[in-house]
Formats: sequence, structure tokens, C-alpha cells
Amino acid sequence: MDATVSYLDQLIAGGLLIPTGVDGLYGRSGVFEDVIVRFEGLVTAEGTQDAPEVIRFPPAMTRRQLETSGYMKSFPQLAGTVHSFCGGDHDHMSLLQALSKGEDWTAGQQATEIALTPAACYPIYPMVAAQGPLPPDGRLFDVQSYCFRHEPSPDPARMQLFRMREYVRLGTAAQVTAFREMWVERARQMITALELPFDVVPANDPFFGRAGKMMKVNQREQGLKLEMVIPVANPQPTACLSFNYHQDHFAHTWGVRLADGGPAHTACVGFGLERIALALFRHHGFDPADWPAGVRRTLWG
Ligand code: AMP
Ligand code: ZN
Repeated sequence: MDATVSYLDQLIAGGLLIPTGVDGLYGRSGVFEDVIVRFEGLVTAEGTQDAPEVIRFPPAMTRRQLETSGYMKSFPQLAGTVHSFCGGDHDHMSLLQALSKGEDWTAGQQATEIALTPAACYPIYPMVAAQGPLPPDGRLFDVQSYCFRHEPSPDPARMQLFRMREYVRLGTAAQVTAFREMWVERARQMITALELPFDVVPANDPFFGRAGKMMKVNQREQGLKLEMVIPVANPQPTACLSFNYHQDHFAHTWGVRLADGGPAHTACVGFGLERIALALFRHHGFDPADWPAGVRRTLWG
């Protein structure tokens, strides 16, 4: 058994994660959730001075939005769509028969209008575009959502359903790059206060296929994505926060405009809430009552 599996086993034995039989789909204990609530409190405390607009979407977007976003071009392997039974009595009989024989009953399921959110910021761009040009100072949002990515793994830090808290900035290139720099610095201070070891490194996303190779190289060479990595379950550290500069990609995708009509630039900082909780449990132990005093003060005040 490798080290990754054994940390998952420890989390399950310790009652922090509840297995379901599917890799990457877990229940969370009250202790686990309390750490997430407290960490989110810290994120809120850091970001409140910027007066973000707080928005919460359910963990879904419209299928049309997913199509327009270009996600199926870059990450078809990760996307999740919601399908449902839309047939009549006859189809229902076939479904029940297949079920009773243990056969595949899903063939008749049809795609609904709903897809699962792959990143918490995704529903923001079409919303802003529909609301008209940005004010001169741009806009800033605080979002949080469960996100789905079809990447089943025995690594407890690679879940299929997990939460992402994000700040999303829309404005000029100067406004959004300054925002990103500021959050790299704030994040360094936050994670230092939590007494976790970390590094900030250039990163790239798992763009799909041959065309994706180019996008990967571009992203890395242009420094569009930085990640804060922390050792969690693997020998190599895990990306727990990401700092993304999308340039004017979403202006072209959605029509997000500046006050003067020019294309808006966007950036987001994403906190992987489960990964940060897992890092805290890894480094400070499974019982938060025993965590170092400074860490407890930072989270519980
Ligand atoms: P990304 O959009 O890939 O940069 O993801 C944003 C943040 O979400 C990452 O920095 C991680 O902390 C977290 N994250 C991404 N994928 C997963 C996953 N499969 N399981 C848990 N957390 C994840
Ligand atoms: Zn984002």
C-alpha cells in the first residue's frame, strides 16, 4: 500500500472522511467541517477590506454556459453533466428491467439543462457580461461552491466533489494583475500563520489532448497560473491555492467589457478548502484541540 492510500485510510479510520465506495466522493465529519468554516472565516477576514460582492451559486451552471465557456474543448475528461430520465411508461419498464438484471440502466438517460460547476468562478463571467460594462474600478466577487471534476483517485486530496472559495477580479490588466500579486502576498501570510510549509510555483492545467499541450506550454511560459503547494498526502506537494490570470479570455468568451467598451481582463484566487483542511490535519494532527496555539488562535480567535 502506498503512502497516499494510507493517509486516506487514516482519515477514514479517524472519522474525518466517510467513504462511499467511490474514489473521491466522501462525507465530512463535524470536526472536518468546523476547520473549513474557520478557514473560510480567515479568508473572509482577509478579503473584507476590499468590499467584495458576495454571490453564491448552487454547484451547477447551465449546460449552455458550460458549452460557451470552452470547458469541453480544454477539459472534456473532467466535466460532469446532469442526466435524467425523460421517458414514458414503456421506457420506465425497460429501465426497471435493466436495473433488476443488474444491467446498465443509464442508456436512456437524457442530458438536462444543467451541468456541474467545474470551478467556483465560472458562473460569474456570464452573469457580469449580462449586467453590462464594468464600472471604472472594475468589480470584485467573493464566491464559493462545491465543484465537480471527474478525476477519481485514491489520493484524498484529489476529490471528485470539493469546495473552492474564490475572489474574482474583473477590470483592466493593471487592476487584475495587482489583485493577483496582492493575494499571493496575503496567502503567504495566511498559510505562514497556519504554520504550514509551502512554496509558490508556476503551474499548468491538465489541458486535454494534443492541442492541449500547446495551451499548457503557453500558460506556463506566460506565467498565467501560480499555485501555492503544501505537502498533503503525496511525496510531491499538492496545489492548495491557485492564482490565475486569464488575460482577456473571458471578455472574448462572454463579452465582459470595460467602461470604455474595451475587453475586460480577469483574475481569480482559489482556495481549495478540502485540501487546506487535509494539510492542517496532516501537519498538526487529527484533533484540532491539540494544534499549536498560534494556529488555534488564527482559526478560532
Ligand atoms: P484549479 O482551478 O485547478 O486551479 O483549482 C483551484 C483549487 O481547487 C486548487 O488550487 C485546489 O486547491 C483545488 N482543487 C482542484 N482540484 C481538486 C480536486 N480534485 N480535489 C480537491 N481540491 C481540488
Ligand atoms: Zn477561478
